[in-house]
Amino acid sequence: MSDGAGIIGKGTFAMGQKRIISAWIQGGECLDAASMPIPSRVWRLVLLGAPGVGKGTQAELLSENLGAVHLSTGDIFRAIASLPPEKRSSAMEEALGYMRRGELVPDDLVIRLVEERKACLRLPCGFLLDGYPRTVPQAEALDRLLSQEGLRLDAVVDYELPLETVVRRLSGRRVCSRCQAAFHIETRPPRQQGVCDHCGAKLVQRQDDRPEAICVRMQVYQQSTKPLLEYYRHRGLLVSVPAEGSREEVFARTMQQLHDMASAQASRL
Ligand code: AMP
Repeated sequence: MSDGAGIIGKGTFAMGQKRIISAWIQGGECLDAASMPIPSRVWRLVLLGAPGVGKGTQAELLSENLGAVHLSTGDIFRAIASLPPEKRSSAMEEALGYMRRGELVPDDLVIRLVEERKACLRLPCGFLLDGYPRTVPQAEALDRLLSQEGLRLDAVVDYELPLETVVRRLSGRRVCSRCQAAFHIETRPPRQQGVCDHCGAKLVQRQDDRPEAICVRMQVYQQSTKPLLEYYRHRGLLVSVPAEGSREEVFARTMQQLHDMASAQASRL
């Protein structure tokens, strides 16, 4: 892989990124972002793929290597879910109802949440949007937001995996109740059963990883998110990556595809 893909040392951006992610989740300003180092190649990416294909894991690896900050709309809703009930507004409660059933939160609410956090999108380190957009109206809203900011997407990475594998992955997934780190009871078990390797907090199964919610999420994905593939293919941004194999293999494939895309874009200039 050449330097043209902008690979940087692991962990270089970790501290600055933590502050940005908490601003993203809580909806505050991205303080101190100006002091963050800028990677040699700035990437603004959207990650697509059915729930359970491993987008979150790939986002972590990509973020460490490309220096772009990992922004997940699912994390915003999980943070709302962990607030005490008296601190949640009625709009928040309504959003959590959709999430618990495995349904999509209505577009207008999600679009508003992302607009409120647009400072995180204009950061010079770039971004990896995970879980947004999920529908064509959300993609159109993102296009409008980016063009107001004078920015554009570099690529949309779609992770592909057979349905049976997705269901197996989701039902074995466990997440840390404090730091949200992801584990899997078969393929990525924690060192001590039920305990997070990173912060020692309890591992839990997400409510929307229960079998009944998984079925709904897969149907929702087929109906709402698949049309996005066409939307981005049409714009020449779509990169399809088979998500079988180890996290390292999938990551290497992603980097190769991004590198190929960067080379193709450079040769057109
Ligand atoms: P995720 O972690 O991305 O799978 O998101 C978990 C849940 O949060 C989803 O099942 C939805 O209920 C909600 N959610 C996250 N992002 C979006 C979005 N862009 N549009 C609608 N609902 C979303």
